[in-house]
Amino acid sequence: MVDARVLIGKPVAQTLNDSTLERADKYAQIRKRRPSLYLLTSEDPSAQSYLKSIRSTAVKVGVTLSEFPIKAGGKSDPIADGIVQLNRNNEVDGILIQTPLPEGVDIRVIARSLDPSKDVDGITPTQAGMLLQAVRGALAPSTARACIEILNYYKYGLQGAEVVVIGRSLIVGRPVALLALARNATVTWCHTKTQSMPTICKRAEIIIAAAGQAGLITSAFVRPGATVIDVGINVDEFGKLKGDVDVPSIASIAAAYTPVPGGVGPVTVACLFANLLDAANARRK
Ligand code: NAD
Repeated sequence: MVDARVLIGKPVAQTLNDSTLERADKYAQIRKRRPSLYLLTSEDPSAQSYLKSIRSTAVKVGVTLSEFPIKAGGKSDPIADGIVQLNRNNEVDGILIQTPLPEGVDIRVIARSLDPSKDVDGITPTQAGMLLQAVRGALAPSTARACIEILNYYKYGLQGAEVVVIGRSLIVGRPVALLALARNATVTWCHTKTQSMPTICKRAEIIIAAAGQAGLITSAFVRPGATVIDVGINVDEFGKLKGDVDVPSIASIAAAYTPVPGGVGPVTVACLFANLLDAANARRK
């Protein structure tokens, strides 16, 4: 039995970042300033490695990054007021609110205050609605976009493919299913209340696992020749990162899978900056 192909995120991220840098240079020539991202940072330890990658990628793609920490004990309303100020600031092209947020801060309250044209992670009801309506130019959450960019890069077509998405969160499961549907896939959603998940997943040519459950996807879920996109990031008892996929169990059955770490993660950061340039250029027009 041949082991599955490993779909590494790095070259996908590199290709996206090269294009973003080119677009950022063009933007800077016209606007006489670099595109800019304003980041409201989470102090949660689980958000720190994403923050580090955002900082280093901002440098690579020539984007000006400003940061403001959301402190524990903060309240939603003053943060929302701050966002309204950023909405009015023409020097700010995109605003990202990093999660998880401290207790007492409600992402829905904050999202409502955010100008959808600066919503680079697709959390506003307007952007989510545009995605639902398959409107061209809708800003999809970066992680959802990353799954599709990986499939595109490695040439796994979605048209007519049977896709099963595990998870229905607003930032991953729902939007990635909508993106696949917009590309003419036949999509099934699984979640915590789904019955017979292995049987449903076994039908899939493409599985997108975003449950946040280490090792959930075993050989019992994977049909021979399937492609498995592993979004999950779980930390085991030794502090090691684990995906939702039990790789040793599926490696001789699946045709391809994304590793954790090094799969969806780096592409997510690249998609955030690709979204920023999409947003900046759309606003300029
Ligand atoms: P979430 O907790 O908001 O949602 C998880 C979803 O999975 C829920 O809809 C739930 O119904 C479903 N689910 C949970 N356990 C299940 C089970 N046993 N069977 C079926 N469905 C189940 O999480 P999220 O924010 O969507 O993130 C999902 C995972 O992706 C997490 O591990 C998170 O750390 C990771 N993540 C990775 C990236 C990245 O860039 N790689 C970005 C965001 C999130």
